[in-house]
Amino acid sequence: RHTLGESVSDWDEQRAAYQERNKGSNSKHSHSSKPRLLMVSGSQPKPCDNPKGNHFILKNLKNKVDYCRLHEIDLFYNMAQLDKKISGFWSKLPLLRAVMLAHPDVEWIWWVDSDAFFTDMKFKVPTAKYEDYNLVVHGWYDVVYEHRSWVGLNTGSFLIRNCQWSLDLLDAWAPYGQKGKPQDAAGHLFTKYLQGRKDFESDDQSALIYLLLSQREKWAQKTFLESSYFLHGYWVILVENFEKMMQKYQPGLGDERWPLVTHFVGCKPCHGNYGTYARARCTKEMERAFNFADNQVLEDYGYMHPNLSTYSVEKLVPKASDIRHAKLRG
Ligand code: UDP
Ligand code: MN
Repeated sequence: RHTLGESVSDWDEQRAAYQERNKGSNSKHSHSSKPRLLMVSGSQPKPCDNPKGNHFILKNLKNKVDYCRLHEIDLFYNMAQLDKKISGFWSKLPLLRAVMLAHPDVEWIWWVDSDAFFTDMKFKVPTAKYEDYNLVVHGWYDVVYEHRSWVGLNTGSFLIRNCQWSLDLLDAWAPYGQKGKPQDAAGHLFTKYLQGRKDFESDDQSALIYLLLSQREKWAQKTFLESSYFLHGYWVILVENFEKMMQKYQPGLGDERWPLVTHFVGCKPCHGNYGTYARARCTKEMERAFNFADNQVLEDYGYMHPNLSTYSVEKLVPKASDIRHAKLRG
């Protein structure tokens, strides 16, 4: 059985000791009483098979840099394959373990896929709400636990607490992603066990649902399924509404009125020919999601994309009230 590394069993004690030693040190966020959060993302070490994919990975990274700057969140972006036996969409698991152990100062790690765009630049994740939980995933209780659907939750954007429970979860979770026979066998198992899953190699999302269902007493209690805002938002149900959103609402809502995250599940922009959706549709909608988000960034600089489908910008006509403020300041 594959392991992620030497077993660690006293991580909570080690972290507590670390925090005791570093009390009052001038670490970057010690002035704040909020728990420290680190965003983690990444993409494959090699260039994309589809050359346009590289451009989208860059645009997506820019989008994350914007969100993180606006919310004073640090970002760790990884492109190295840390575990020889675990790669592709499973890479996040060994990575999260390494990040936990390297950052005892960090309380929450926020994993976000490279095909998930921040489309609400104002919404803040309500970490205070999750005090009693160690894992926060977008999903629905009944769809996971009653319907056993393989899309009852999504692992493209989730929060995981830096603690022993999480290290144990990663240890239980990662072996299903071991390349070769284990991954194939787990794929068949999940297809049998879960509703609506086609037969393909195991994926980390199915494996998490499988663990929640098959070892419920161990994992379910500390796992919060969030659906009050789009911690992950399925792109298909969102992208056609961007213009309507701009007419009716404003950023900061995070839900279907102005989604926090628009995740291009099944688009596989980096791969040659592998996605569930037509490449042209994915490309067009990713561009629109990027520009929708970028408008919320460019506004502060006096520009906007009037048409979400192109990168061209126009200067914003200053509002009368802004001119008044500028005069007051000047
Ligand atoms: N990923 C990675 N290294 C790799 C391949 C993928 O870190 O070598 C990450 C990347 O952020 C990607 C995520 O794993 O977005 C999950 O894969 P994908 O988005 O293709 O899965 P989907 O959301 O379509 O199920
Ligand atoms: Mn994804």
